[in-house]
Amino acid sequence: MIEDKNQERTPLSHLGEFALIEHLTKNFKINHKSTIKGIGDDAAILNFKDKKVVVSTDLLVESVHFDLSYMPLKHLGYKAVVVNLSDVYAMNATPTQITVSIAVSNRFPLEALEDLYAGIEAAAKIYNVDLIGGDTTSSNTGLLISITAIGEVEDEKIVYRNGTKPNDLLVVTGDLGAAYMGLQVLEREKEVFKVNPNSQPDLEPYTYIVERQLKPEARKDIIKLLEELNVTPTSMIDISDGLSSEIIHICKQSQVGCDLYEEKIPLDPAVISVCEEFKIDSTTVALNGGEDYELLFTISQEDYPKIKANPNFTVIGFMKEAEAGMHLVTRAESKIPLKAQGWKNFNA
Ligand code: ADP
Ligand code: MG
Repeated sequence: MIEDKNQERTPLSHLGEFALIEHLTKNFKINHKSTIKGIGDDAAILNFKDKKVVVSTDLLVESVHFDLSYMPLKHLGYKAVVVNLSDVYAMNATPTQITVSIAVSNRFPLEALEDLYAGIEAAAKIYNVDLIGGDTTSSNTGLLISITAIGEVEDEKIVYRNGTKPNDLLVVTGDLGAAYMGLQVLEREKEVFKVNPNSQPDLEPYTYIVERQLKPEARKDIIKLLEELNVTPTSMIDISDGLSSEIIHICKQSQVGCDLYEEKIPLDPAVISVCEEFKIDSTTVALNGGEDYELLFTISQEDYPKIKANPNFTVIGFMKEAEAGMHLVTRAESKIPLKAQGWKNFNA
């Protein structure tokens, strides 16, 4: 569906492994003082002086986590970096370095890897992280990408999932459900394309939600904003699996309960209209859809005046004693227990 602009096909076997790594990484620059040694030796060397170091890894597997029939490789490279950085921001930390490991089958020419690395490079630039190493190997099946993100944070600024208390407010950034509905649109177009390969999908009405799926961003701006507002959340998590399961993570680890208000859940108008088109309940999508990469956090009530006028934030609930349980309070004011339903990967 999405045209591959890079039409040349240079087999990977034309380059040795080292020439390939050199070729793919030659444009990357080192910007951080904490990077003492990047690519080129047996290991990288970092120096964080008195900062605490945050490390997070993700593994992405073709046809489990991404589908190359609608995911351009450049977007995939970008997204693979962003989803890792999102985990670092969720600790209230600043990402500084990444490593990138790939396993590729000979189905991929050099040009495909160039596209992948162009996306990685774009993300590294925008989020200001140094590429400091990785590993390259072959695969008999699809493409695998594993990225490790490293970041720094001052000790007293670290935000865990386990710090919230009853009466704290539950806050979310941005809006929810768009990435999941973007995926539904792309899946539908893929089926149409299978039946009629000459069909040209008109994705124009779906620009926002498709972009949220194919080119998500991590909320780097929020970490800065919280600092400026002098707000340190009492707990924080990024929304990768859906609001419901992330709330449950915070509640379980903090040993609290929660009331989430359905009417407060922020939805983009594009999500509401595409949910109507697909006859899916938009609350269900926000609760279980996932891949929004927004930040979900709790604050003590005394910090509320600092965030209340800010359009980046929506207060969606508040924390209760553990015995009260975790509930969605619907528009009709009935209470439904929250379930971790995530629609991804392991669910058939
Ligand atoms: P080793 O044999 O010690 O594993 P490699 O030849 O795999 O070393 O790697 C050489 C250098 O290139 C190392 O600094 C490694 O971190 C880096 N590197 C290898 N693969 C990648 C990759 N896909 N992306 C970025 N850097 C890589
Ligand atoms: Mg190696």
